Amino acid sequence: MDLKGRRYLVVGAGFFGAVIAERIAADRGERVLLIDRRSHIGGNSFSADDPQTGIECHVYGSHIFHTGDAAVWNYVRRFSTFNSYRHRVLAAYRGAVYQMPINLATINRFYGKNLTPAGAMAFIRDEIAKEGISTPANLEEKAVSLIGRPLYEAFIRGYTVKQWGVDPVLLPESIIDRLPVRYTYKSDYFNDPWQGIPLGGYHRLFHKLLDHANIEVSLNTDYFAIRDRIPAGCTVIFTGPIDRFFDYRFGRLGWRNLRFEKEICDVGDFQGTSVMNYVESTAPFTRIHEFRHYHEERNYPKDATVIYREYSVAGETDDDPAYPVNTARDRELFVRYAVEAKKYPHVIFGGRLGSYQYLDMDKTIAAALSTYAERIRRGGERS
Ligand SMILES: Cc1cc2nc3c(=O)[nH]c(=O)nc-3n(C[C@H](O)[C@H](O)[C@H](O)COP(=O)(O)OP(=O)(O)OC[C@H]3O[C@@H](n4cnc5c(N)ncnc54)[C@H](O)[C@@H]3O)c2cc1C
Repeated sequence: MDLKGRRYLVVGAGFFGAVIAERIAADRGERVLLIDRRSHIGGNSFSADDPQTGIECHVYGSHIFHTGDAAVWNYVRRFSTFNSYRHRVLAAYRGAVYQMPINLATINRFYGKNLTPAGAMAFIRDEIAKEGISTPANLEEKAVSLIGRPLYEAFIRGYTVKQWGVDPVLLPESIIDRLPVRYTYKSDYFNDPWQGIPLGGYHRLFHKLLDHANIEVSLNTDYFAIRDRIPAGCTVIFTGPIDRFFDYRFGRLGWRNLRFEKEICDVGDFQGTSVMNYVESTAPFTRIHEFRHYHEERNYPKDATVIYREYSVAGETDDDPAYPVNTARDRELFVRYAVEAKKYPHVIFGGRLGSYQYLDMDKTIAAALSTYAERIRRGGERS
């Protein structure tokens, strides 16, 4: 790969990097090299068709596109149309299935009641009052002070232990401000007006996004293997982990990773829905994804389905971390890296790994579009 004379190098072919590359190529009309150390474009939003069943799987876990941002919605639909999928999440607990987030159906089923919205509100208020927690000292007390102990023990405790690998009494109360409880039967997971899954799949959306004569893509290419050859004057857009960029000189930022176990089942439908949470600590996995449900418009086989069991694990390696842990120490560390980053005016850090934050796809696209407009469009990337 020839790096001579390059003016723009984008590291990472997820939404942040791909959108910036598309803008440099199409809007600025300049050549851009996009590299990714993985063997595919799309970053964590990548999807691939399972070779045996043809069912499209979200390789890094279910990805549902949802947004309330009209500019992002208009932008992304230039590269794909979307189907009318609306996301709903269910939770399996002690042999029964409940709607998530907790709503009127969850409360009535769990307590074996038939409460109205006002009745349920009063009932939960009484449950909260029974505990008498005025100043919560940890995450458990905070959650109990928001929804009462029985709902907390059933739906929050076991899941939190599995997801974060820590007992909630050892986590700071500041992690949660609120726990969504709906006193209606509304079962849509997201409130955004625009939702769906790309009709042709995320992989085709990314191919279209990057299909421009000014964009050169180099896969299986690690930034750290080529960084010594990057010419002076080249602007680098870096969407990998910011602590890795600085060789962890101040220490490692905390991450949780995910591990997926794939199974092809010889039934037409395994669980009747796309995502089932397993909230009890007795089940070692946190969720089961069944991808056929994202595309009801497709003719998938009637005698086979693909499921992924999701496990949450500590993020100890350099590999594809999933969720920032975001303790006070992590936030302090990130500020030190962000200050250091200012000394590198030719490098623009962005995306979920470069900015150490959980970002939905629409927020990532919005951030990429504004970074492009503010720092690259007028050639002012060094300012
Ligand atoms: C389990 C899970 C489920 C999610 N579900 C949803 C959802 O339903 N809806 C939603 O809107 N959002 C969802 N998200 C968020 C979504 O994944 C992010 O918005 C998106 O991935 C952000 O894009 P990005 O470009 O910042 O990062 P990424 O997609 O992670 O892309 C970064 C890329 O940089 C590459 N890279 C890193 N280091 C190097 C290096 N040294 N050299 C070369 N390449 C490198 C990586 O290989 C990667 O491909 C989910 C996230 C997770 C973890």
